[in-house]
Amino acid sequence: MKKYLHIDLTTSLIEEKGIDPALARDFIGGSGLTSRLLYDMINQNTDPLGPENPLLFMAGPLVGTSMPSAGRCSISALSPLTGYWGESNTGGFIGPEMRFAGYDGMLITGRSDAPCWISVIDGEVKLHDAAQLWGQDTYQTQKIIQKILGEPKARIACIGAAGEHLVKMAAVINDHGRAAGRTGMGAVMGSKNLKAIAFRGSGKVPLVDPEIFRAVVNEILKELKDDIPAQAFKMAGTSGYVNMALMFGDMPIRYYQQGEWEEGSNLSGILMSEKFLTRNTTCYRCPIMCGRETRTVKYKVDAVHGPEYETIASFGSLAMIDDLEGVIYAGHLCNVYGLDTISTGSTIALACEMFDKGILTQELTGGLEIQYGDVEMTHRLIELTAHREGFGDLLAEGSAALAVRFGVPEMSATVRNLEIPMHDSRAFSGMAPIYALSPRGACHLQGDMYGVDIGQGPPAELDIHPGDRFENSEDKGRTAARAQAWRSVYNALTVCHFMNPKASQLLKGLNAATGWDYSLEELLIAGKRIFTLKRMLNSKLGSSRTDDRLPDFMLKPLKTGGTLGFSPDLDSLLAGAYREHGWDTETGMPSQETLEELGLGFTLRD
Ligand code: SF4
Repeated sequence: MKKYLHIDLTTSLIEEKGIDPALARDFIGGSGLTSRLLYDMINQNTDPLGPENPLLFMAGPLVGTSMPSAGRCSISALSPLTGYWGESNTGGFIGPEMRFAGYDGMLITGRSDAPCWISVIDGEVKLHDAAQLWGQDTYQTQKIIQKILGEPKARIACIGAAGEHLVKMAAVINDHGRAAGRTGMGAVMGSKNLKAIAFRGSGKVPLVDPEIFRAVVNEILKELKDDIPAQAFKMAGTSGYVNMALMFGDMPIRYYQQGEWEEGSNLSGILMSEKFLTRNTTCYRCPIMCGRETRTVKYKVDAVHGPEYETIASFGSLAMIDDLEGVIYAGHLCNVYGLDTISTGSTIALACEMFDKGILTQELTGGLEIQYGDVEMTHRLIELTAHREGFGDLLAEGSAALAVRFGVPEMSATVRNLEIPMHDSRAFSGMAPIYALSPRGACHLQGDMYGVDIGQGPPAELDIHPGDRFENSEDKGRTAARAQAWRSVYNALTVCHFMNPKASQLLKGLNAATGWDYSLEELLIAGKRIFTLKRMLNSKLGSSRTDDRLPDFMLKPLKTGGTLGFSPDLDSLLAGAYREHGWDTETGMPSQETLEELGLGFTLRD
């Protein structure tokens, strides 16, 4: 669309800004473009919850076209949870609707005096009073705004109680229960007194060469019918991975301390389909339809979004809860209050572990007995966290802060202060450098080596090959770095990671849509450019080579289960990854030559 909106909530300024075509090509869109724009706007003096922290929504160049599963939207700011680069992306329909309304993105600066919300309807932008919305849950907020606008199909990104109370792991929720969960972007919205943003548009996304574009889309759709991972996601959703994850030892148990747990099979996706599933849901133009909607009679909720695999593991095996209906309800609470399920589940599980070890006691928790396996306590802790009540006020700061507060920083399963997602790097060694180097903190969307090694990751054309999941070598680290670069391209395109056509097909579609002339190798270099820029931004914010680590207890082998006796050798894996990225193996910093080759010479001034 070649432009984005800038809205300053302090002054009520609303302006359109053009996107420099050279920047667009080099950084593609989504979190690539946001990292370039925010690089100049944030530094060590920026308060993540202050008016000076810019919040940026950005879609990728294929969003809103007929390219399947290309409908995501990236949200970025300085993270209040981690203190470093923050990024999260969400599916559903919000990204396409923003482009139909006329814009590739929206930059929000400042802070409104009173709660407000923004509407963007076919290029017309309005600021509204949100007095009647403040305090409403995310589902109610979406419904009320649609009614006010008289637009039942308006797409709304909003916050719930967690964002309003500046909970550090607050999510932005859209399209019922889709979430931009990670790194606390909901808290940044809350800090600006911004309850919601609504988009509705009737425009079309222009294509430079519609004929070539259509041909490649048809080819991808035809081949998708034979794509086994895509068909598996269609049949079972992400919850279908539970049994396989337990077998591999990938699904963490008892806060990463235990290798096997028979009751884990009570959380299986098959059981979820048989007992609770009401329908499959999807994102814009996605034939995979991996989304799930469930129903719980016990907790009297008719339409629960999900739960996804990450939610099932965070509130299930990590906290030793095998009551699937209780886990479904935990996910629902997170959606209505606007909380990231990974960070929330992981922080509660850490509290269980600390209580188990006697570091937390009832005197310290305000009388709460926080035991593994207690589903009702989990629900209560989610409520307390979302509203920052009692002990919930400490949980609201996240795992790293909780562990520091009680003098046990080594106990939190975090990297760069972000809770590790539900894939144990002892099950797939390639995940160790992925987590250690991920610019937003531990993240499975910055490279999915578990997917690569089971044959459902990025295409082999990119020299990213499946291999031994227990390999400890520089070569494995090198493969992980290439996967990071490719997923950086995905996060910039804002294409779903479950859609993996041939890289050459995606490339053809991108060039046909935009008129760019990328080659495949150049596109991978663009991924490295984006990944390295985020590293330079984190460096500017105070992160260094010493942060490229995993918690020690996660590098200790388990005595049972699918990872029996194995642990990743982080040093050799990292050495391979540094080399592939063109970073110094000792300091972990990109060399001057690398920066200049990538077109990032401007970062040398910092
Ligand atoms: S595969 Fe799932 S998450 Fe990805 S675009 Fe499709 S429905 Fe959305």
